[in-house]
Formats: sequence, C-alpha cells, structure tokens
Amino acid sequence: MSRVYNFSAGPSMLPEEVLKKAQAEMVEYGKSGMSVMEMSHRSKDYEEIIFGCEALVRELMHVPDNYKVLFLQGGGSSQFAMIPLNLASKNKKCDIVITGQWAKKAAQEAERYITVNKVASSADKTFSYIPKLDKNTFSKDADYFYICMNNTIYGTKWNNLPETGDIPLIADISSMIMSEEIDVSKFGLLFAGAQKNLGPAGVTLVIIREDLIGNAVDICPTMFNYQIHADNQSLYNTPPTYSIYIMKLVLEWIKEQGGVSAVQKVNEEKAKILYDFLDNSQMFRGTVAKEDRSLMNIPFVTDDEDLNAKFIKEAKEAGFVNLKGHRTVGGMRASIYNAMPIEGVKALVEFMAKFEAENK
Ligand SMILES: *Cc1c(COP(=O)(O)O)cnc(C)c1O
Repeated sequence: MSRVYNFSAGPSMLPEEVLKKAQAEMVEYGKSGMSVMEMSHRSKDYEEIIFGCEALVRELMHVPDNYKVLFLQGGGSSQFAMIPLNLASKNKKCDIVITGQWAKKAAQEAERYITVNKVASSADKTFSYIPKLDKNTFSKDADYFYICMNNTIYGTKWNNLPETGDIPLIADISSMIMSEEIDVSKFGLLFAGAQKNLGPAGVTLVIIREDLIGNAVDICPTMFNYQIHADNQSLYNTPPTYSIYIMKLVLEWIKEQGGVSAVQKVNEEKAKILYDFLDNSQMFRGTVAKEDRSLMNIPFVTDDEDLNAKFIKEAKEAGFVNLKGHRTVGGMRASIYNAMPIEGVKALVEFMAKFEAENK
C-alpha cells in the first residue's frame, strides 16, 4: 500500500487510523452480523452510531443545550436554500458579506426567496482579504446575518466575527469545522458539509439554536424544514447512514488527539511552517492578506504560469497531490485539514525549497 500526501480541498484526506478501523469493521460491525451499510437506520446498533456521533459533536464543540445537532443531506449547498426558507419568514431579509464563491452562491440562492443586502465584498481583489465592515451598512431588520467563515477557494478566514447584536449570525464552516475552537453560542446556526474535515461526502452537519426552529415559510419542502429533522432526531427519513458512521470514527479520532484545542495547536503549527516558508521564499508567495489567513486552505503562486505548472507536475510525481489552485485563483493551493499530518507539511516545504533551488 502506498498513500500520497493529499492536499485536496474536498473531498479530502481522512486519518489513516479511521480508514483502517472502517476496513476492519466493514463486513461485520461489532456482533451485529452485518455491515453498517446493511443496517436498518431504526436498529439499536445504528441508533448507537448516530446518537453517539451527536454526543461527540456536542462534546468536542461544547455545543450548548439550547442547540440542536442535525445530520442532513444535500451538501453544504442545500443550506443556501434551507437557511432563507427557515430563518427569514419574518422580514424576508438577510445581510451577507461576499467573501468568495461560496458566499456568492449563498447570496444568489437566498435572493430567490428574500431580499439580500450585500453588506460588503472583497471581489475587488479576488477575495484575498476579509472586508472591514461599516455597521451603517447593516440592515436593522435583517432576519439573519450570513458569513462564510473560512473561504476554501481563496484561503481567507474571519478572525474577528461581525458584531450583529440580536440578529442571529449564521456561518458556513464547511472547511474549518473542528479545526479550531469555535464559540457556538455566538451563532444562530452553523453548518458544514462533512467532506472537508469530518468524513466522506453525503452528510451535512447543522447546529442550530432552538428558538430559530419552527419558523419555516409555508412553501418550504418538508425535507428542507429544520423542525422536521429536529423533531425526528435526524431520522425522519433514511439518513446517510455510512457517512455518519465514518464521521463518528473521525470524531473519536479527534477526541483521541486531545480534542479540538489539541488539533488546533497542530493546525497552527502546520500553517505556520507553510506560511513562514512562503514569507521567506524568493519564488513562492501567499496570495492572502496576512491577518485574514486561513489555517486550512493556503493558496500560493509563483509569478510564472509555466513554473506553476511545472511545480504541480513535479510535486505530483513526488507524492504531493491535488496542489493545483482553484481555476479562479490559479497557481497552487494546499488544503491542510485535520487529517494532514505535520510530516506532510514539512515534506511539502522541503520539496518546495528544493524546487526553488533547482529552478532559480
Ligand atoms: C465545499 C464547500 C461548500 C459546498 O459543499 P457541497 O457539500 O459540495 O454542497 C460550501 N461552502 C464551503 C465553504 C465549502 O468549502
């Protein structure tokens, strides 16, 4: 077996221990006589998995008791519709900060149902920074205020949250969930597609304050109504059973590492190794404003397209894969989620130093 260092933005690396555990349990889970994939979602064995997974989310993220934890389908992208359909029945209005493609998509989808006030945007500099906000641009009567907290494509992260007072703050944390401590109580709703930091594609985690549940507009499809899923503990219909099982293994792994704060320390070290190299390199440079840098997604470039292509090709041959940047940014991007070991980042930086020396 040979495993590469996979810098994919998503679906992305999973901890090898998790894959091995899943492999060992694949044909028979415990003493059940069957695979998790073959189990009824109403069985005792499966209830242990899904409720155990929820308990781990609560424990690892210190989720307050007045929040529900939901396991939904339809990817992070379905939340772009679910949020306005459920949270904006009162004034039919939200505030959004446009920090990249994912915030833009959230705004476009919300606009189909409600009035969207774009508070600020960093489109002028290819989303390479988080805009400074002017409170005078906030709507007084918004039903919620929406941000994409870690911008997977552009490599920015909100390091200071907007002050929205009584207006619920909603955040897409798909590419940063459990990479660092987050104070859940500051938010009305948090969501994340699993395929970046929590497991395989197919399940989306939603953490929602209870008072925001139960306000869906009449035309909201049943499957898009948070209340339906909250009332049924995410078992209204068949949930993505295997994805939730793998998520539970990933959460157990995070717990074994010492929890989110321990994982955060390692992530800070990993990111520092790469950013320090970029800051000192004559050939490579980061593309993001320093104070807004992401811990998880690190875009970088050389000033020569041919050199970028050569780098990506040679990196791949050396076992560092999926380093090509998003088509809207160009260059390279290293996604270093929780499952990327620090050795992988060190090895990448060594490879970059060697490439720089050889291509002066
Ligand atoms: C990947 C991603 C999404 C989209 O998730 P899907 O599950 O593909 O719908 C949304 N937001 C962010 C920040 C992402 O990184």
